[in-house]
Amino acid sequence: ESSLLALLSGVAAHVGQFLSRRRADDLALELTRTRDDFLALVGHELRTPLTSIVSHTELLLTDGELSGENRLLLESVDRNANALRAIVTDLLDLAGLESGDISLDLGPVDLSEIVSASTAALAPVAEANDVKIQVDAPRVLSLRGDPVRLRQLADELIANAVKYSPDGGDVGVRLEREGDLAALTVTDGGLGIPEDERPRVFQRFFRSSAGTARGISGTGLGLPLARAIVERHGGTIQVQHANPGTSMTVSLPLDGPGSSPGK
Ligand code: ADP
Repeated sequence: ESSLLALLSGVAAHVGQFLSRRRADDLALELTRTRDDFLALVGHELRTPLTSIVSHTELLLTDGELSGENRLLLESVDRNANALRAIVTDLLDLAGLESGDISLDLGPVDLSEIVSASTAALAPVAEANDVKIQVDAPRVLSLRGDPVRLRQLADELIANAVKYSPDGGDVGVRLEREGDLAALTVTDGGLGIPEDERPRVFQRFFRSSAGTARGISGTGLGLPLARAIVERHGGTIQVQHANPGTSMTVSLPLDGPGSSPGK
């Protein structure tokens, strides 16, 4: 009977474990939902007043009679309000893409064109950081996707590669077709991400110690947003160490979401 007792207490222990795990999972899910609702609510409430601040400031800046000092003050208001608005937009985009509230506007997209537009737009920032962007892409690489979101994705990855290369260097952007997939790889020779922190870079608000120690500013929303865009397209995104920097690889099914067996 002692073995029966052992068996019973084993069962009881497992049931207890199961129940507490269930409870912890439910709680985690509920907390995640509460957090997402909260962020979405705050985002909506902030967006309207911010839009009004930005548009009124920009109107005031057109006044030719402004004193130099007041112009500087207004320009600072404008910059900060725009920065705040960008954060709110990222928060709302992230919440909407993850929940499915934002739908993709799917159509034929030339990813080569998107990558070269993104690179061209970021060239001034790269130049200011003494970074050279090298692009290696086919003339055309067509897939089914949302052009606005894919541009946002390319911007995010290339901007990070530039931003986290504080001492200059090369950023490589490679685009190629691999069977039914488009593979986009952005490699830099920058700060790199410590190995134990690498799995966390796609969590919202996470910022690696390597960047914060150098005083590089950011919100920790860019990579979660990048991942949400990739996943909504049925693709995958991975971070790798690229001695000495970082390499981000995105794989997207050419046929668009719903076509990859993994989804
Ligand atoms: P942030 O606004 O802080 O740049 P991201 O979500 O884009 O937020 O990235 C999260 C963190 O991952 C960054 O704070 C940075 O520490 C790290 N990171 C992202 N891209 C790179 C990169 N190319 N090189 C080094 N660190 C990077």
